[in-house]
Amino acid sequence: MDTIQDFRTEYFPNAEDKDWNNWHWQIQNRIADADKTAEVFALTPETKEAFADGVKIPFAVTPYYAAACKGTPLEKTILPSPKENITNKLEVADPLGEEPCFAAPNLVHRYNDRALFLVTNFCPSYCRYCTRGRRAGREDMTVNDWEPALKYIATHPEIRDVLISGGEPLILSDEKLDALLSRLRAIPHVEIIRIGTKVPVSLPMRITPELIQILKKHNPVFLSVHINRAEEITAEVSKAFNDLADNGILLGSQTVLLNGVNDDADTLLTLMHKLLKNRVKPYYLFQCDPIAGSGHFRVPLRKGIAIMDELRRRTSGYAIPTYAIDIPNRFGKIAVLPNHIQECANGVVKILNFDGNVYEYPDAE
Ligand code: SF4
Repeated sequence: MDTIQDFRTEYFPNAEDKDWNNWHWQIQNRIADADKTAEVFALTPETKEAFADGVKIPFAVTPYYAAACKGTPLEKTILPSPKENITNKLEVADPLGEEPCFAAPNLVHRYNDRALFLVTNFCPSYCRYCTRGRRAGREDMTVNDWEPALKYIATHPEIRDVLISGGEPLILSDEKLDALLSRLRAIPHVEIIRIGTKVPVSLPMRITPELIQILKKHNPVFLSVHINRAEEITAEVSKAFNDLADNGILLGSQTVLLNGVNDDADTLLTLMHKLLKNRVKPYYLFQCDPIAGSGHFRVPLRKGIAIMDELRRRTSGYAIPTYAIDIPNRFGKIAVLPNHIQECANGVVKILNFDGNVYEYPDAE
């Protein structure tokens, strides 16, 4: 199967253009059970076993995103595996330790000048390695549930940067999103609003002219777009990125390093270059958080560092994301860097270059 159009013709033959290109239709027609999944994907015995056992993280995928992932390693990120039932060393349901330390309901205030505001638990498609798999797809909140968090932000002048996340914030209706952004913009000390989202990739038809006008109205708004492979940048996604960029919405990417999905330099280089061509700055490459049952996704840290080293050797800085791990239990995000400094002494630094040679560089004493 070559294209999204072929997929649509084969599995959703009754969908007209006005349906397929409507984000509500996409959500209403999600693939969310074993039978429809088996019709659309060539299920392995493992995936069948996972469905038979009952999935722990909710399962659903929009028809559009199923078409984009089908036949690529991205299938692993959306289809359940029985390995999700294996909890490895140091894996827990809430690896970042968010739940016990909400500053207000649904609000994490871990870094002094920033706050993370969770506004929904719903996603159009669910990722099998979701850091918030404990919440994703569970009972959703209402706009009234946002009030304590909004009050907290308004009374903490040190918060200059609010990251709206979930779940999937761009799944809120235009009216709710506009109201939320208006409330935040009315707080004088909130300078920057960021939105963590996978929607431009998993549901590009949600990036409507109306949505773009709402985001533009509340600029500066940064979208941190969750994306793992270049195949996700289809013609539809490319249009969504460019429509957003044309309207001054700042775009950065967040990629999760995943075993068997994107854990090699060629794959990541192709992704980063395609992002840049579509006006998205590669921002973060995350080590997969140790949620319970995610061991089959985790890439050894040494391998991640070696991949980053190779990326630096092969492309320019604009195409390089920051490789980062979030230390469990609220101890913060840190950049993981290869150590090229071998020694600093007597006004000379000994530096290992990418070819494995050591050179001397003058240091201030
Ligand atoms: S889109 Fe984000 S919040 Fe939703 S399931 Fe994937 S990782 Fe989790």
